[in-house]
Amino acid sequence: MKIQAPKGTYDLLPNQTILWRHIEAQIHQIFTEYGYDEVRTPMFEYTDLFQRGIGDTTDIVEKEMFTFSDRGERSLTLRPEGTASVVRAFIEHNLANQGSIAKLYYYGPMFRCEAPQAGRFRQFNQFGAEVLGSKDPRVDAEIISLAVNFYRRLGVTDLDVNLNSIGCTECRPLYRQKLIEHLRPKSEKLCPNCQRRLERNPLRLLDCKNESCRRLTEDVPLITTTLCPDCGEHFEKLCKILDSCDIKYKLNPRLVRGFDYYTKTVFEVLAGDLGSQNALCGGGRYDGLVEECGGKPTPGIGFAAGMERLMMVLEARSLTPAVEKRPHLYLAPLGDEQQVIVFSLCIKLREAGWIVETDLQGRSLKAQLKSADKSGTPLVGIVGEDELRNNQILIRKMNTSEQELISIENLAGYLEHFYEK
Ligand code: AMP
Repeated sequence: MKIQAPKGTYDLLPNQTILWRHIEAQIHQIFTEYGYDEVRTPMFEYTDLFQRGIGDTTDIVEKEMFTFSDRGERSLTLRPEGTASVVRAFIEHNLANQGSIAKLYYYGPMFRCEAPQAGRFRQFNQFGAEVLGSKDPRVDAEIISLAVNFYRRLGVTDLDVNLNSIGCTECRPLYRQKLIEHLRPKSEKLCPNCQRRLERNPLRLLDCKNESCRRLTEDVPLITTTLCPDCGEHFEKLCKILDSCDIKYKLNPRLVRGFDYYTKTVFEVLAGDLGSQNALCGGGRYDGLVEECGGKPTPGIGFAAGMERLMMVLEARSLTPAVEKRPHLYLAPLGDEQQVIVFSLCIKLREAGWIVETDLQGRSLKAQLKSADKSGTPLVGIVGEDELRNNQILIRKMNTSEQELISIENLAGYLEHFYEK
């Protein structure tokens, strides 16, 4: 029986890694321009971090974590998201930096044991940012603008930004109560999952994809009507700043997101062509998380974006970059001795920065020329018996079939002249 990649995982094949690396380069570029520093945290953490950081009542902690024990019976979990780990590292290494704010970003694989479907995997890659140390709504606006401008740079311009405020520890409990009271009389008609969540985490009911739950929650009171003055003012300022920098958004009072740690601002960026898994990225403010994880009270905000869904959008729209990887030269040896000379020549030229291809199967000239043609190289260098005897190489220009003999010694100079380097 053939062994296949585990359920919910996939291989990135050579034709995709080109696009993947293009996206990676753009990630590092934009974060650098916006003044963010990269952190790389372990791929597993003590389970407790995620239980405290993400929240016991979330889908992720309740049923999606890959958890295992080490030999000392300590419970470890493959990271299902990046924020908790970044916050842990921020506290552990004291990155608070005497009163200034920390602007951090990360990129790497995350693991969630979800039902795999298009745009939903068990190992997937996220990049994201966390800003720790400022309550200012300009930081919320910076995070949202960065995410939107990132997609715009890649050519994805028709985005929907959904925006909401889910209040703070002052005003959210009131809303929570209102919501429970409103939905309790209908509880028997809710799906089993929502019935279970009604008393524990009622905001998540607004997120349920089940059609009948959607109908039952259509007329719920909206959180925007219960925000305290501080949250209301923060949200108003954020909207004003976004308006001033040409970021279009939709107010969506039903947007709650899947993490317990959010306070005030939450947002999602959607691309229409992704079907039901249409969120490219999501984020929000988490003013209580650092303290929850054992640090000093520190406000924070961040977002996380999925690589796979972005790849899907770019591929579907043919927004893939033309990547130049044509060889500068294809070297074709004819005979055993010539193969050795050509092999060392090949290595030497590569070390000097040239992209050089050669045959490694001892094939005929005809077959080698065919490969050279397929590779798109403009130049082929042929070394046969005569050439070897005279320390020469026969250069063939592929577009005109013009040929000339040059000395092997002069090959690097020839390439420099040809490519005007
Ligand atoms: P979340 O961390 O759940 O807020 O998700 C943020 C972004 O990560 C989503 O908008 C997706 O682009 C991506 N994402 C989350 N879960 C998965 C998954 N299981 N497979 C692929 N991408 C995911």
